Amino acid sequence: MFIGKGVSKGIGIGYAKILKNDEIKLTNFKVDDKENELKYFRKCLNDVVKDTQNVVEKLSGTEADIMNAYLMILQDPTLTTETERLIQEEGYNAGYATKIGFETVEEVFKNMDDEYMSARASDIEDMKKRVINKIANKSELDLSNLPENTILIGTDISTSDTAKLNLNSIAGIIIENGSENSHVSIMARTHEIPAIVGAKNILKEIKDDMYIALNGETGEIYVNPSNEQIKNLTNIKKELETEKEELVKYKDKETITKDGYKTEVFANIGTPKDMDKVLENGAEGIGLFRSEFLYMDSDSMPTEEEQFNAYKEVLEKAGDRQVIIRTLDIGGDKDLKYLNLEKEDNPFLGYRAIRICLREPEIFKIQLRALLRASAYGKLSIMLPMISSITEIRDAKKIIEEVKQELKDRKEKFDENIKVGIMIEIPAAAIMAEDLAKECDFFSIGTNDLIQYTVAVERGNEKISDLYTKFHPAVIRLIKMAIDGAHKSNKFCGMCGEAAADERFIPLLIGLGLDEFSMNPTKMLNARKMIRNLNREDCKKITEEIMQMETAQEIKQRLTDYKNSIN
Ligand code: PEP
Ligand code: MG
Repeated sequence: MFIGKGVSKGIGIGYAKILKNDEIKLTNFKVDDKENELKYFRKCLNDVVKDTQNVVEKLSGTEADIMNAYLMILQDPTLTTETERLIQEEGYNAGYATKIGFETVEEVFKNMDDEYMSARASDIEDMKKRVINKIANKSELDLSNLPENTILIGTDISTSDTAKLNLNSIAGIIIENGSENSHVSIMARTHEIPAIVGAKNILKEIKDDMYIALNGETGEIYVNPSNEQIKNLTNIKKELETEKEELVKYKDKETITKDGYKTEVFANIGTPKDMDKVLENGAEGIGLFRSEFLYMDSDSMPTEEEQFNAYKEVLEKAGDRQVIIRTLDIGGDKDLKYLNLEKEDNPFLGYRAIRICLREPEIFKIQLRALLRASAYGKLSIMLPMISSITEIRDAKKIIEEVKQELKDRKEKFDENIKVGIMIEIPAAAIMAEDLAKECDFFSIGTNDLIQYTVAVERGNEKISDLYTKFHPAVIRLIKMAIDGAHKSNKFCGMCGEAAADERFIPLLIGLGLDEFSMNPTKMLNARKMIRNLNREDCKKITEEIMQMETAQEIKQRLTDYKNSIN
């Protein structure tokens, strides 16, 4: 058995197909007719762009987004600056110039601090191979026609190869390199295809058509598995299928504990396209629309009209459900190239989110106008991110009132009583919760940031990730302060950080009196099932015990044991 990193849960059993990425042998020579060589390079590049556009047209949802990002890089003139210079000024042949030119860009991406951007280096490598293939007239592999039950194995599977796959025939994916963030992993999770990355040297052991089984959760890979191993894996597969089928029945059920404590399961979304999954999984509302994704998906600031249309689409699809849209939360780990934000030593403590909006009200006002206009089409609430003081709420509300007045003058329709809430994701806000609650209509606790600011551990830092924990007593005390603070003013308090979906944490949140749990749509039914199995009174008792505990380890153990006693 081999072990890699499981990145998409599920059991895959089938026959290996190796994705060969054999390099074309390139010779390096100088040409006489530089202009002609440049023309030939541009034609080949253009052919690759056209092939990619044809693939994009057939896609939708996450795959379309991924391939559009790929296309954008492919069409960016800076990608080919060095290649064109090598042909035009130094007279190199197109193939060699492409290799050197694209590798220069690949290196730049590899060295980027941003994990997502550095993962794009493999896209550049893929583009390089495809352009070189065109130059050498070599045809590409047909991935749309693989046999049923294929376990696709490669050193890496590029974004463009991923987009070409006929997913119905793929029983599993194994790659030697890759990361949790690579597109193939994202795609595998979206389509529930079991997948493993980081399977070092696996290609030395596996040849085409070998019998393979894998567990996408544990990262286990079996080459020529025994009958016993297949029996065990088939049992796990059946359990997973039953679990999924069983969850469907919770789609239209109330989110209520056995003893009648009513709460709600909401969805976190990033784009209007996510609404299908939201409705499929029975959301009672949208607890967090991360509006910055609209900004990040675009190469210039989205206009008022573009934003208005996106918000309106979500509201119309949501019907009478509440939709909480968070205003621009850029900065920290989310960059916007066209805003030209200065590089900072501590971006998580820097110029970000509401801090930008209050200092650059012209940007904020465009979004507020779009939000207010969209509020005429459903139950929209505005949520302000990264609030650390009362002054920030007052300043933001002042700008909201100005925009309302503008719209009144323009005779535009909007909800005059639109609710304005805040994220509680900075310890200062949790400590001041009682006071902040008097200034706004609701809270939503963002544990992803609240944890990092409470324990001073950057949320993406793998080295000290053991210290980044929601079970830290300080984090739990701050959550309690936020919920109690909201309730004192009869305001509702939700949670949209990842902790809201954790089955071990849910009983504690019920005990503390959380009003709304917002999460990734694929996790909602499981959370609703969990809540329906709980008793509020028992949760309160566990919560009292937890509040007396001093260490994260003790708390985690107690909550894990409790969760296991429920299931
Ligand atoms: C959070 O911080 O918990 C949150 C939901 O916001 P984001 O993950 O977008 O920072
Ligand atoms: Mg946050």
